[in-house]
Order: sequence, then structure tokens, then C-alpha cells
Amino acid sequence: MLPGTTEHGGILVGYRTPNGLHIEDALVVDDGTAARTHYVRRAKPAQQILVNYLAISDPLIGYVGEWHTHPLPQPPSPRDRRTMRLMAMRNSNPVALVVAALNPGTRHVRLHGLLSDPHPASHRLLGKFSDITIAPGE
Ligand SMILES: [Zn+2]
Repeated sequence: MLPGTTEHGGILVGYRTPNGLHIEDALVVDDGTAARTHYVRRAKPAQQILVNYLAISDPLIGYVGEWHTHPLPQPPSPRDRRTMRLMAMRNSNPVALVVAALNPGTRHVRLHGLLSDPHPASHRLLGKFSDITIAPGE
């Protein structure tokens, strides 16, 4: 994606592992109001896309988080961190927020991950999460 186009995003599906999450797929949820530096994940279309995906996937697979792009090589914003805090408070299982930051100069994508840690319960009350390194899957 080049500068000037809109941000994209959607939901992550996968399963929990002893060390965190395995992300199986990143589903695109279009946002008709998306702008170059703005994307809102719409609840209704996201729910429909998730239901359709889960209907034909392995029963172990489920919702594990959210993702979106940044048009420049920038890490998760303060707004992204606030969003992650709410996600951490609302989900009793670990969830992730992945930002795919694009570098138009080098045409590289850098993945930034935030992972919630709902255990113990006090972590969930505080919406605790950590910055994580995303390891490419096999
Ligand atoms: Zn962002």
C-alpha cells in the first residue's frame, strides 16, 4: 500500500497457546469512512465476517484480536494503546492488537504487537498488556 491510500484493518483469528497466541488469519473488515491515518473496525460487518469464517474453520479457531495498518513506519499510537487497554479489560482470555506499519520508502512492513495478560484478575481490571515480538509462523 502506498501513502495516499486508506488504512485497513480487521480481526485476528487463531487460538491460544501456553506462551500467548497463534494468529491463523487476519480478516479484512472494510471501513467505508477509513482515511489515510484513520480506520474504525465496524462491529456489525466484523461479526458477520467472523461468523462466516468460523463456520468453515477448525473448531479450535476463534477471535483473538484486532489489526490495522499504519501508512508510515509508526508504532501503535496512544489511541491504539487506549483501545488495547479496553480490549484487555473486556476479554477474559489473552487478545492481541497488531499494527502493520508500512514504510513506503523501503516497501517493508513492520509488525507491532500488543498482547493482553488477563491473569491474575487484577491484570484484567487494569487492562494490562505488553508489547510483544511477532514471530513468523511455520
Ligand atoms: Zn493505529
